[in-house]
Amino acid sequence: MSELPYLAIVGGGIAGPALALSLKKHHGISSIVYELQPKYDVRGVNITLAPNALRVLQHVGVYDTVRPQGYRYENIHMSNARSQALGTLRQGSPKHYNFSSLRIHRAIVQKALLDELKVQGIPVVFGKKLVQLHEEKEFVELEFADGTTARASFAIGADGVHSRVRDAIMETKTSYSGFMGIIGMGVKRESLHKSASQVPLPNFVFGSRGFVAIMPSSYEGDMVDFFSTMPYPARSREEWNELANDKTKIQEILQQRYGNEWPHFICDMTKDYDKEGLSLLPFFEVPPLERWTSIKRRVILIGDSAHAFTPQGGQGAAMGLEDAETLSHTLSHPDFKSDYVRLLTAWERHRIERLRLVKDFTDLNGRLRTPDTAVIQWLKELLIWGRFKWTGELGNLQWLHGYNAEDIVRFF
Ligand SMILES: Cc1cc2nc3c(=O)[nH]c(=O)nc-3n(C[C@H](O)[C@H](O)[C@H](O)COP(=O)(O)OP(=O)(O)OC[C@H]3O[C@@H](n4cnc5c(N)ncnc54)[C@H](O)[C@@H]3O)c2cc1C
Repeated sequence: MSELPYLAIVGGGIAGPALALSLKKHHGISSIVYELQPKYDVRGVNITLAPNALRVLQHVGVYDTVRPQGYRYENIHMSNARSQALGTLRQGSPKHYNFSSLRIHRAIVQKALLDELKVQGIPVVFGKKLVQLHEEKEFVELEFADGTTARASFAIGADGVHSRVRDAIMETKTSYSGFMGIIGMGVKRESLHKSASQVPLPNFVFGSRGFVAIMPSSYEGDMVDFFSTMPYPARSREEWNELANDKTKIQEILQQRYGNEWPHFICDMTKDYDKEGLSLLPFFEVPPLERWTSIKRRVILIGDSAHAFTPQGGQGAAMGLEDAETLSHTLSHPDFKSDYVRLLTAWERHRIERLRLVKDFTDLNGRLRTPDTAVIQWLKELLIWGRFKWTGELGNLQWLHGYNAEDIVRFF
């Protein structure tokens, strides 16, 4: 495999390790991962992995590791703040997609990927913060904060929403999306008010004051988390940090919105949940990019560095995983060395078009979750109800959940 390109991957989050694994396992190509964290350190909150994400995890060999560490489910039940059922989305389905969906902590997924890199002998260099990158005709040179440099034939930016790699190859500005999220994790299901027992979980509750999701997150389903995404005014980075640390204020925000006139178990949670455990996260977005590659095509962006948007479609990590696997099949194409400009262009066009659709889907979810007047809220609930009556439980989302990254080869 010595003729194949040698890759430097910047970022050991989700997309970067998945790319390194897919390249090694399926095509025998080695790469090296540079990660800014000084040591093995995984973090995050609970996330949903829909079948299209789990398919990639299976292909890179970590699905069996993560599956018993999260909550598997097929249906998300939708209701309104008066506990009336609005519809059911079959998000996961062994029958239709070969996979259920999985609710799991992001740190478990990242750890499984990093552990598998170790097993496969793929090096991860911690404490390497990329500060600059120079693209030459034949190679890319990476500069790190510790003063060292490294060279590779191609460099991959998998360094997240505030990507340094992206800044080095194009002018973009990440901006606050206008939405933030509040999440409380690790609630014992048995501790919920008895009204919760009449509600099937996972449940998405929509009301004129916003949106709350209740999702089991442990294997047995005995632990649940609740989260709400909501519009919130922009502020500086320091002010966001201040707000994120002000747990009393976060609890107040929840209570003002959902402390009364919502199902009893939700009202209770806003008061009874230990406020120290609440996390608040502003969502930043990367504007839709016309290109995910540099002019000379030796630097390539994947994951949040190429297309971060709000998590209101539950598809952020999934898109990074799909990017990773599709790119691995592109980089390993037999003609890649002589024809990489054409192949990367085809990959980029395909992924940009898919991301446009997924972003539209995400933004629509965001609009349905936004507080509104009683009349508009009534119309939104009618729309949700009518949609599932019309489309059935799969919600016409087979294009999203049925995607198989291996099919990228059809686009070359
Ligand atoms: C509250 C919340 C809920 C979410 N829910 C879901 C969900 O339900 N489903 C879903 O699919 N997605 C969800 N997401 C999105 C998902 O977590 C991200 O889309 C995903 O983690 C992006 O993966 P990534 O590898 O592109 O970037 P990241 O996971 O951000 O990883 C980037 C890595 O690069 C490293 N790095 C950064 N800068 C440098 C540098 N200069 N040099 C070297 N290394 C660097 C970072 O330390 C990090 O390890 C959610 C996100 C949030 C915030």
